Amino acid sequence: MKPVALLTLAALLFIITQCSVTHKTSQIDQIGETSSRGDSLIYEIPEDAIEVHPAAYQPSYTIINDLVHTQLKVSFDWKKMHLFGKAYITLKPHFYETDSLRLDAKGFDIHQVELVKTGGNLPLKYSYDSSSLYISLDKKYRREEQYTIYISYTAKPNELQVKGSAAINDARGLYFINADGKDPEKPRQLWTQGETESSSAWFPTIDKPNMKMTTELSMTVEDGFVTLSNGMMISSKSNGDGTHTDTWKMELPYAPYLVMMAAGPFTVVKDHFKELEVNYYLDKKYAPYAKKIFGNTPEMIDFFSKRLGVPYAWPKYSQVVVHDFVTGAMENVSATVFFDKMQQTSREMIDGNHEDIISHELFHQWFGDLITCESWSNLPLNESFATYGEYLWNEYKYGRDEADFGNNNDLNHYLYYSRSVNAPLIRYEYDDKEEVFDAISYQKGGRILHMLRKYVGDEAFFLSLKTYLESNRFGTAEVHQLRLAFEKVTGEDLNWFFDQWFLSPGHPILDIQYNYDSISKLVVVTLNQIQDAEDMVFRLPINVDIYENGTKTRREIVMNKRQQTFSFSCDTKPDLVNTDADKSLVCEKSDNKSDTSFAFQIEHAPLFMDRLEALQFFSDKSDNSFYSRVMLRGLNDTMWAIRTIAAQNIVLDNDLNGELKKKIISMASSDPKSHVRAAAIEQLGQWNDHNVEEVIENSLRDSSYLVISTALSALLELDSIKAFEAAQFLENDSSDEIISALGNIYSNLAGPDKNDFLLSQLNKDDVSYDLVSSYGIYLSRMIGNPEVVQEALSTLYDIAQNDDRWYVRFAAINTLMNSFNAMAAQKETWKNQLMQTTKETEESQNLATNLEWITTEMSALDVKIESIKTSETDENLRRILKSQ
Ligand SMILES: [Zn+2]
Repeated sequence: MKPVALLTLAALLFIITQCSVTHKTSQIDQIGETSSRGDSLIYEIPEDAIEVHPAAYQPSYTIINDLVHTQLKVSFDWKKMHLFGKAYITLKPHFYETDSLRLDAKGFDIHQVELVKTGGNLPLKYSYDSSSLYISLDKKYRREEQYTIYISYTAKPNELQVKGSAAINDARGLYFINADGKDPEKPRQLWTQGETESSSAWFPTIDKPNMKMTTELSMTVEDGFVTLSNGMMISSKSNGDGTHTDTWKMELPYAPYLVMMAAGPFTVVKDHFKELEVNYYLDKKYAPYAKKIFGNTPEMIDFFSKRLGVPYAWPKYSQVVVHDFVTGAMENVSATVFFDKMQQTSREMIDGNHEDIISHELFHQWFGDLITCESWSNLPLNESFATYGEYLWNEYKYGRDEADFGNNNDLNHYLYYSRSVNAPLIRYEYDDKEEVFDAISYQKGGRILHMLRKYVGDEAFFLSLKTYLESNRFGTAEVHQLRLAFEKVTGEDLNWFFDQWFLSPGHPILDIQYNYDSISKLVVVTLNQIQDAEDMVFRLPINVDIYENGTKTRREIVMNKRQQTFSFSCDTKPDLVNTDADKSLVCEKSDNKSDTSFAFQIEHAPLFMDRLEALQFFSDKSDNSFYSRVMLRGLNDTMWAIRTIAAQNIVLDNDLNGELKKKIISMASSDPKSHVRAAAIEQLGQWNDHNVEEVIENSLRDSSYLVISTALSALLELDSIKAFEAAQFLENDSSDEIISALGNIYSNLAGPDKNDFLLSQLNKDDVSYDLVSSYGIYLSRMIGNPEVVQEALSTLYDIAQNDDRWYVRFAAINTLMNSFNAMAAQKETWKNQLMQTTKETEESQNLATNLEWITTEMSALDVKIESIKTSETDENLRRILKSQ
């Protein structure tokens, strides 16, 4: 699964979500799933009956019965948003014999429970508490005896009371989109989301990651709808009543949370990798861009298969884009579901795409799907790998710099998150399984795998992964199985690495000092681990590159004490001593190199991170004699992110011969990468120099939306009237970037005539946080205009109550509160003006009418704000609102 990054709000979200602690308590049910071991009975207590204390140990699910095969026949009531299901579930006792079975089944109406028998089914006794179905079998079964249970049921996902995670908005399992067809902007669709344990909201199963089964799913849907599920479609039959039934079969075993179905008026764009079907399901409107969006998939399948030495395991690979998806994407076996932001036009893709999500989900088809984490505690066996899959693809396809750029973002993401959460990768103790879907399992985990790769070397790393995959395929694994595979290949005891990085929390904070003793001819590197005294001391294998007289020598050291000094003989003072030369350590560090060393580093050290670190070192040193040279080197870098950072941060105090200035002006129009052009234009906007106005204006005709919106903002600084005029020509543009820029310009400059345009943008489905906030500024200026205010308030009420993103609701509530304050100020102004008018005039009558209007409006607004605040259900937002 790949959660949606909330950009600047991600941090806020992380901090807030980690504060939530919930305790589940309920009555222990009378019937538990039982197995006999000799004479003693083991009663399985339903999970939600255990009072969980904070950070309780979370064992893997105890397997009493194994799922073998699930056959489902489903149809739908779109009005009620119900699913009618007939399930045939084949199981067998895991080891001990048993005469009972517990299944997860969330919020169903159960109609029949029978044992499938030749000559007629046998009704079975059962009890059901709306979350678990406890079935008494007709006899004790032994482990070699399979049995099949038939259950007919109605699933009512929209009536479930569920709690989601930061990664998934909620956990209904089955979602009907635009069920009544009243929304003209969306197709009617249905789709499912199983992870973590929500498949049991639409079919009865043992909804645990340490289960595997084969499936056959028949879906009856209206004609015109396309269906998708795991495996291959084996039949499609018309029912002659405006519906048809498609049957999908998956003959290889996989976990219940990876079962999926989707149906809707998708357009299917066909592709292939050798004999393997590779299909893209999306809205008709975006079908022309399908190959541009997903077209690298066949090459990715080829690359991952070869890199891992283990071929893609499943009979096809389909990718489907659905509306209102609850996360970024989900790696269901052979059928990945994506959120609708995947759908971009070619022009939108100039400024970036979501290929990292594609590689992430595809890598899961090995890590997560072929081998599944045995328990949610072991989630990094899925997510750290999928995150590292992004790195591997970028490294192969776009080069190491591009991959390292992503890797550095991952490290920063984790380090920021680690300020508020300190937990090991493998988390046997947690309150809620949704907690483990975080920057530790994803970003830190990806970096730990990268560090492991650098430690054992490429050949050993990929051979270890092959060993791990081959010995656990179609099964489940704990982290120890991964370690054993690495130990088998390398011959080295790796407990220290796994204990330190997988089973313990935190990371080292390093202080690095350098010295050269010209008498003893020694380079001295002093390393200090300055994390808190109560935190562990890390064992850190580190590469040190020494650059001396045009040659580079690599030294390998191991730091295993809190403070350590390493000396290397060196005939002359080296140009650079580059500690952690691979830049693979997961740490925070202050690397106390001299300005000479950093200036040398940006020229001669090979990695993206070498250049970035040097650039960062000089970014606040514009009076340093190396500054201009280093910055010019940054502006000329081959990697776009380095050029972008240089252009964004440059200060022109010491640009003696105007070289930097000239370079930035030329980059603004001619750099091949739109992010760089935008960064250069942003820089131009800060110069307050009318000589560059023409360059900025020309950029309003750029192919990139990012460049145009940046140019608009830059022009606003130089000539607001021109910017306002230019903005009006862009009103028909649908790009979010442009609309946000227009919102920014109109917030301060537009009159009441722009209200209709702004409201039409606010009423769109995916209105941005920025636009709602800009509109707040505009509305405060228009607060004396009853017509504008009335239309505005009803739109803002709607967003504040109904937008499905809490931070957008938050922006709307904020805007409403600011409007109330602006009204109060306006009321005072009118009151004073009225007091100063001595006799009855038309003006005083108008003032009196206005005062009456604003007083009524304010009290209505006050009531409305309170009611919106009280009816808010999101815990994060409730907490923020309470503190305001
Ligand atoms: Zn994932």
